[in-house]
Amino acid sequence: MLKTVLLGLSRAPLMKRMVVGFPLTRRIVQRFVAGESIEDCLRVVRALLASNLMATIDFLGEDTVTVTQADRVTDTYVELLNRLAAEGMADRVEVSIKLSALGSLLKDGYELALDNARVICTTAERAGTTVTVDMEDHTSTDATLRTVRTLRTDYPWAAAVLQAMLFRTSTDCAGHAGAGQRIRLCKGAYAEPAEIAHRSKSAIDRNYKRCATILLEGDGRPLFATHDSAMIEHVRSVANRIDRSQSSYELQMLLGIRSEEQRRLAGLGHQVRVYVPFGTDWYAYFMRRLAERPANVLFLLRALRERPTKKPAPSGF
Ligand SMILES: Cc1cc2nc3c(=O)[nH]c(=O)nc-3n(C[C@H](O)[C@H](O)[C@H](O)COP(=O)(O)OP(=O)(O)OC[C@H]3O[C@@H](n4cnc5c(N)ncnc54)[C@H](O)[C@@H]3O)c2cc1C
Repeated sequence: MLKTVLLGLSRAPLMKRMVVGFPLTRRIVQRFVAGESIEDCLRVVRALLASNLMATIDFLGEDTVTVTQADRVTDTYVELLNRLAAEGMADRVEVSIKLSALGSLLKDGYELALDNARVICTTAERAGTTVTVDMEDHTSTDATLRTVRTLRTDYPWAAAVLQAMLFRTSTDCAGHAGAGQRIRLCKGAYAEPAEIAHRSKSAIDRNYKRCATILLEGDGRPLFATHDSAMIEHVRSVANRIDRSQSSYELQMLLGIRSEEQRRLAGLGHQVRVYVPFGTDWYAYFMRRLAERPANVLFLLRALRERPTKKPAPSGF
């Protein structure tokens, strides 16, 4: 119930103005978002790399309504990828993109988003890294998968994301388990209708395990995005059973969530990649993180009641 309300509010402009305008919210946001600038983001990424973790960077924004905005997002990714190459980080750091940020919601937007995604992929290839295309709500699933398929003709390493909450996903997994295919499997962060999606945690978890097994038994490179120990244990035990090496798949988590566990898994020899969002447009991303865990709302409410500390906010916020 609270989850549905928060996901609804993630699209409410009035709530956005209230939350974004309230200075204390930013203290909580810092846990999940690496700051506003490329410099802020790279500082966080360097620390992750020093802990033996890898990263995928997301320049926040999904409300792109003009071509100029879409170009700005594309230019930011190009600048970021050039910085990753210049600083020698491209072998461990890739980027995640959202087609809505690249213009897919505009008129003829998928062509625009595809052109922009191509620019980003070309720069990523030159830099020596990869790109994952995030999955948004179910209205965009087919168009997003189509876009990734098109990108893969030139950039076979381009990754798509599948969401275990959707009924269709086990079939999609079977179609994306072929040699070399990079596929991120997550539970799904959007409020989806009961006609097309599992709603209970137990059903979503069951489907996640089923999909994970399909991907592990295939020939691709699955990227398991979850903080759920039961899902991670399932992945580890199937991989063990079928003799899949740790280096043939990744475990992925979000910045600020189960950070100790991220380091523990890396210490066990797993490839662990942390999703690092940055930018000023953090509202919708932040509300989805609140929706995932009611305790985060209490954390926020407590912070809103506290007075500001004397400590200055880190740069960017
Ligand atoms: C790397 C990565 C990329 C993702 N990309 C996408 C995408 O492209 N599209 C998409 O729809 N979704 C994406 N997601 C989000 C995903 O779909 C889930 O909404 C999110 O990961 C929570 O599900 P969970 O698997 O962690 O399991 P849950 O059952 O939600 O949580 C399991 C446990 O993890 C911890 N936890 C989970 N979320 C939080 C939180 N917000 N704050 C604190 N603790 C938490 C808690 O201990 C919880 O008990 C991505 C997630 C990750 C990690």
